[in-house]
Amino acid sequence: MTTTRRLTGFKPTGHLHLGNLLGALRPLIAAQDSTDSIALIADLHALTIEHDPDRVRALTLEQATVMLAAGVDPERTPIVVQSQVPEHTELHYLLECATGFGEAARMIQFKEKSAGGGHVRLSLLTYPVLMAADILLHDIRQVPVGEDQNQHLELARTIATRFNGRYGETFTVPEGVRPEAAARVMDLAEPTAKMGKSSGNGQIGLLDPPDVVRRIIARAVTDELAVVRRDREAQPGVTNLIDILAECAGREPSDPHRYGVLKREVTDAVEALLAPIRVRHAELAADPAHVRKVLAEGAAKVRARAQATVRRTRAAIGLLD
Ligand code: AMP
Repeated sequence: MTTTRRLTGFKPTGHLHLGNLLGALRPLIAAQDSTDSIALIADLHALTIEHDPDRVRALTLEQATVMLAAGVDPERTPIVVQSQVPEHTELHYLLECATGFGEAARMIQFKEKSAGGGHVRLSLLTYPVLMAADILLHDIRQVPVGEDQNQHLELARTIATRFNGRYGETFTVPEGVRPEAAARVMDLAEPTAKMGKSSGNGQIGLLDPPDVVRRIIARAVTDELAVVRRDREAQPGVTNLIDILAECAGREPSDPHRYGVLKREVTDAVEALLAPIRVRHAELAADPAHVRKVLAEGAAKVRARAQATVRRTRAAIGLLD
């Protein structure tokens, strides 16, 4: 068995959707036999923008429940709520002392999210340093990253390398990997944008009932060309539907011209994937105490290593033990 410790993070700012399942959860589950992974629910990251406390709490529990329902095995893949391992925040501060203000301020996501003016939380600026702490705390060697997180991973590498150089070998320098399945699910209503938690009617929630799933796919944006083929430039909507069918059912469309047939096939394939998750979720959601226990065990499993990392970091940077 090869072990390459890997971290996949989910932010509890919305319901998990088909993009999360195909792009992150399935690769995580598929690698459970060969890879030592952690599924992190990054609740502290959800506090960097305007938030509703009850909603963040509820979504944290819901995401954990959906992960279990989808097949994450907590024996092999600890499901960890970031705030339940307080070493994340302790390391965050220590790493801030090895990060330049300019380095944080030039992060594209910070610039974009703060561009509108108004009240910008300081935590939005420092959040990439917390992300670096998430990675370095657990000695993560591989981080599956999409394009949008590349810059943040680079910052984590920079901080780790600088810290090691200045204060002595302390951190594993992480590397970014493309998720194997490389699924990038696009928004069904706006197929040039990635499906995201705030995608409205272009998003398929993993817990959406069958009639909602059917309606969203029936309304998916296509084009007038009446050709079922992959062409991300000219036919982004049709390409997305073909890719979803391939990811969910492992097959190609049967009719080369009719979008109605394609949409029916996609609906059936997505439904076949979601139906068992829905059933299992309902069972698990009936016993939230069990899910909370799984989370407590997840935190306990990773805690010793987290404490060791913080101890090493404190000693290196000049704090008394
Ligand atoms: P987030 O939803 O931003 O918290 O991301 C959680 C995980 O899901 C990350 O690993 C993302 O790369 C992945 N992910 C989010 N949206 C998509 C999408 N539309 N297609 C594929 N993967 C996605």
